[in-house]
Amino acid sequence: MSHPNGRSRVGGSSSSPRRARPALEGLEERLLLYATLGANWVYGAKITYSFAPDGTSVGGTPSTLFQTMDSRISRADWQKAFQSAAATWQAVAGINLVQVADNGQAFGGSGNQQGDTRFGDIRIGAIPLDTATLGAAFAPPPINGGTLAGDIVLNSTTPWTNVYYGARDLTTVAIHEFGHALGMDHSQVYYADMYAYYVGQRQSLNSDDVAGIQSIYGARPRDAFNSNGYSNQYWYQAMGLDPLRSNLNQIRLPNLDISYPGQTEWFWVTVPSSNSGKLTVQMQSTGLSSLTPAISVYDVSLNLKGTVDGTAYGDTATITVPGVSAGQAYFIRLSSSSGGWTGAYGMQVNFGNYAMTPFPPPYTVVASQVGGPGGFIPMTADVGAEPDEDLIRIGDLAGNGDALTVAAFGDRTASWSAFAAPSPTPGAPWSMANAQNASAGWWGGSWISVNALDDALSSWGRDGDDAFPTFGKQSKVQRRA
Ligand SMILES: [Zn+2]
Repeated sequence: MSHPNGRSRVGGSSSSPRRARPALEGLEERLLLYATLGANWVYGAKITYSFAPDGTSVGGTPSTLFQTMDSRISRADWQKAFQSAAATWQAVAGINLVQVADNGQAFGGSGNQQGDTRFGDIRIGAIPLDTATLGAAFAPPPINGGTLAGDIVLNSTTPWTNVYYGARDLTTVAIHEFGHALGMDHSQVYYADMYAYYVGQRQSLNSDDVAGIQSIYGARPRDAFNSNGYSNQYWYQAMGLDPLRSNLNQIRLPNLDISYPGQTEWFWVTVPSSNSGKLTVQMQSTGLSSLTPAISVYDVSLNLKGTVDGTAYGDTATITVPGVSAGQAYFIRLSSSSGGWTGAYGMQVNFGNYAMTPFPPPYTVVASQVGGPGGFIPMTADVGAEPDEDLIRIGDLAGNGDALTVAAFGDRTASWSAFAAPSPTPGAPWSMANAQNASAGWWGGSWISVNALDDALSSWGRDGDDAFPTFGKQSKVQRRA
C-alpha cells in the first residue's frame, strides 16, 4: 500500500550541481518560478527537527535560541511558530515532520545525515549574524552529507516578533528556512514564502511554494482507505475493523493519514464477547508526524459517546468509553484539530485488558557521506549581485503630493526625527546610512533607501504601535529573510 510511512525517495539529484533545476512551467495560466536545490531527505516519511539547547556550539559560537526567543515571545508561541511552519510544509507534500529532543552536541559533528537519535535531522539554533541577515539554512543531503544537513541558524540579534504584520515575523522566517532545509531554493515569485527577501508576513504557502515542494516529495499521499476508489470520509462509508481484532481483543491499524485539512476517517467496531467493559481508542501522531489528532466515538445511532482533541503538534489522543457490552457496535471518527491539520498517524482500539504498545516511528537512518559543494544558504547570499537589495527599500512614490508614512513597529517607540530630509532631486535615489536611532531599534543599524523618489516625502508619521510599515504609497519594502 502506498503510504508516507512506507515512502522513501532515494538520492535526489546527487550528481547535479547545487543551483539545480530552476523551474518555469505554466500551471493554470500562472508562471511558477520556484527553484529547488537538487537535494532532499532520503526518507520523507519522517524528517525530524529539534531546538538546540542554549550553549550548543554553532561553528564555535554558543547558540542562544532559547534566551533570544524567550526574551521576545513566550516559549510556547515561538516554538509553535516553528511547529506550525513544519506542519505547513507537511500539509502539502509527501513528508512528515516530527519534533524530537536535542542533546546539545555541536552542530556539524559526526553522525548520521538522517535519523540520528541525538537530535533532529533539522536542528534550529541562533547565534549573532550580520544585521541584514535574519537566518540561514544548510541544504539537505546530499549537498550536506552529515549532521549539519538541513540545520537552521537564526540571527540572535534580530528583534523577533510573532505578531500580525510583524517586521520580523518568526513564523514567516521559520517557513522560509524550513523550505531551504527541505530542499527549496529561492523563488522569483514575490508572494512566495521562498522569495529571497523578507517582504512581509507569509504564514501560508503560495501556490509556487506548493508546486516546488511537491516537485521534490510529491503531493501528500492518501492512506489505504482513501485511495484506489475507497473513501471513509462519512459515517456511511465507515470501514469495519472487526476482522483485524487480535485474540487480545485489540485492533492495531498503522499507516493512516489525514491527507488534507477537513478530512475525516470513519471506522466501526463491534464489542467482542470477551471484553473489559470499555472501549479505548488511541490516535497516535507522536513520533510519526505533526498531526494534531482528534477522536470522536458514536454509538450505532450516532449518539456521541465521547470526544477528545489533541492539544499539540504530534500529539497522541486517547479516549475511553465505559459501559460497553458484547455485540454493541460503535463508530469511530478520526480527524485533526487546530494546528496540525494533516499528517501520518496510527490508530489502536482496545476492548481487552492489556495495554497496547505505541507504533514505532519509521526507520530513517542514513549514514553520513561526503557532501557536495556549497550548501549554506545565508540570506545575504546575493549581496554581490544585487547590492541595493541589501537595503531596506521604500520606493516608487509616483505622484506629487504622495504621503509616506512609516509606522512604529511592535514594542518599539519610534521617533522619526532622526531621519534626514529626503533628497530634493526628483527621481534620484536617496539613502541614509544608519537610520537607526535610539528608539527605533528595529532598523537594526541597517540602511534605509528611498529609491526612484518622484516627489518629496510629504510627511513622516506613525499610526499606532503594532503595524509595520504603513506607506501612503510605496512599491515594496525589502528586508533580507
Ligand atoms: Zn532564503
